[in-house]
Amino acid sequence: MILPVEIIHLKTVRKEGNNMINAILLMLVLGALLGLGLGIADKVLKVEVDERIETVTSMLPGYNCGGCGFAGCAGLASGLVEGTVTQVSRCKPCKEDRRKEICDYLNETPGPTGECVKVTA
Ligand code: SF4
Repeated sequence: MILPVEIIHLKTVRKEGNNMINAILLMLVLGALLGLGLGIADKVLKVEVDERIETVTSMLPGYNCGGCGFAGCAGLASGLVEGTVTQVSRCKPCKEDRRKEICDYLNETPGPTGECVKVTA
């Protein structure tokens, strides 16, 4: 024979079990929604990075002296790749053979648009 106290206890246990399952389902749904949101944000907010900037930056001396008129070597590399600067000789510490290498690289390597920039040593 089951006592009324035991029935109340069983109902309480069952209710707590349902709450646990509901909490787990809620976490799964929230995780799926947040994952979907992150996936969409990754596609919509994606920033195209021109790899040539990083390559040219690594080819420059790396002194970050500002002699070229930019705050650092990455600034000159961006200027060269974006076409706002056409002469690698803006970097005075850069040796002649390295300037030629940078010129050859930029004149022969297309960017994301498929076009190369024309620079001189
Ligand atoms: S002058 Fe050359 S070394 Fe100096 S910051 Fe400009 S690119 Fe770098």
